[in-house]
Amino acid sequence: MTNHKIVVAIDGHSSCGKSTIAKALAAKFGYVFIDSGAMYRAVTLYALRHNLVAGGELKRDELIGALSEIKIEFKYNPVSKKNDTFLNGENVEEEIRQLPVSQNVSPVATIAEVRAAMVRLQQEMGKNKGIVMDGRDIGTVVFPDAELKLFVTATAEIRAQRRFDELKAKGEDVSYSEILENVKERDFIDSTREASPLRKADDALVLDNSYLTREEQMEWAIERVEERLDDR
Ligand code: C5P
Repeated sequence: MTNHKIVVAIDGHSSCGKSTIAKALAAKFGYVFIDSGAMYRAVTLYALRHNLVAGGELKRDELIGALSEIKIEFKYNPVSKKNDTFLNGENVEEEIRQLPVSQNVSPVATIAEVRAAMVRLQQEMGKNKGIVMDGRDIGTVVFPDAELKLFVTATAEIRAQRRFDELKAKGEDVSYSEILENVKERDFIDSTREASPLRKADDALVLDNSYLTREEQMEWAIERVEERLDDR
């Protein structure tokens, strides 16, 4: 075992299991796991609660003006053994995963000022390496020098089905078609926005997990980290 630590950047489409892979890799190597999407979700929840998204209309300038009032933190939850997201001191981990936030997060994440604030926080969290972060721009913008970059994807239909099963298991009343529409819409907004669009970094390895089991993809990802650790 080596003390050498690396940065693992995991990007990809919505609901393709990036966080699951990132979380498992972090646990395996004793690294910090950061779900950067949770940060954009927390900002979106703030916007919803403060009526900055009214009737589908986002009040960009007001949200930008409120950024200094938005404090986002992660705290380890010993019961779930993962980080919970806190918005201004309140645990919002559950609420940020629900559909109202999912339906409004992509427009919020197009705002360059919101991105700049989140990227600053993310880079601070990764300054000592030993971190696995997942998102849309981690390998391209947040950690362009990351030792390992993965780009994860799967077909929109498979991603929607997984998300549907997950929400149903939590007892939420959702329809498959509503989720598929949300997945496709987020793909479109994320990859066509002007500020840091979702794209594969040139040096990222692609992982299409449409037809892989969780075990198969984890085995592959662990090998990639081990390779990088051996590189030195
Ligand atoms: O990863 P997750 O689906 O939870 O992210 C929610 C939304 O946050 C994405 O649809 C995307 O619009 C935005 N996001 C982003 N950049 C990141 C992480 C998430 O724009 N690094």
